[in-house]
Amino acid sequence: MVIYILVALFGALLGSFFNVLIWRIPRNESVVFPASHCPECNRPIKPWENIPIVSYIFLGGKCAGCKVKISIVYPVVEIVTSAMLLLLWILFVDGRTITILNGIPLGVQFAFLILLIPIAVIDIRHYIIPDIFTLSFLVLSIGISFIPSGITPQQSLLGILAGGGSLWLLGFIGKVIFKKGDAMGGGDIKMMAAAGALWGPEIALIAIVLGAFLGSLAGLPMILLKKINADHHIPFGPFLGAGLWISVIAGVKILETYAQFIQGLVG
Ligand SMILES: [Zn+2]
Repeated sequence: MVIYILVALFGALLGSFFNVLIWRIPRNESVVFPASHCPECNRPIKPWENIPIVSYIFLGGKCAGCKVKISIVYPVVEIVTSAMLLLLWILFVDGRTITILNGIPLGVQFAFLILLIPIAVIDIRHYIIPDIFTLSFLVLSIGISFIPSGITPQQSLLGILAGGGSLWLLGFIGKVIFKKGDAMGGGDIKMMAAAGALWGPEIALIAIVLGAFLGSLAGLPMILLKKINADHHIPFGPFLGAGLWISVIAGVKILETYAQFIQGLVG
């Protein structure tokens, strides 16, 4: 029980750090310097005003200096990061869920999955997925594939083609048919290439199918209700990220169920 509380606390602190990344990386600011300050009045944020979740409530969601409203996104990122890290811990450290993930270093998988939280927020706000996340994981994942216990370098390469290549192709077809600019963001392509490199082609493809499904679930009603028109750019990163979470946690089960279903149809 104590370990759960420690994991949740660490998750909240990590979420607090993600808030720094979310603000600074798209603005090309240093992640370390200067110390956190209010973007409105530049007042330095004191340590007791920087306690995840608690400080937001204590400050009433306002800067202690200029009283400008602090975005609700800050505590939400902290709560979500804490909850997601706890979920990963329960599933893969406590529960030891047996999946294809065996042999791929858990720490790297956790890091990739949990970083999808700041990636999603950055994509929603700025319509970009910074290379620093995607390319570093792409290189790291290719390197890891040479460790004998996990997936092979060949599977890793196939994963890059399946994850990045299929999205690139989708974007290319979209461009030809609709004669519009880039339908598929380069960041999405690099992110799924990195995911394919780490987890292999199956996990990446299931994630893309799920992501497209979730994306249309969310996008179609908005288009139908004329909240947005079809020309509007909808960030795909958060949906791909959600697809990846489901795929990593349940992808093997999904594949098995699907294979049984097909067998049932044939036999
Ligand atoms: Zn302020």
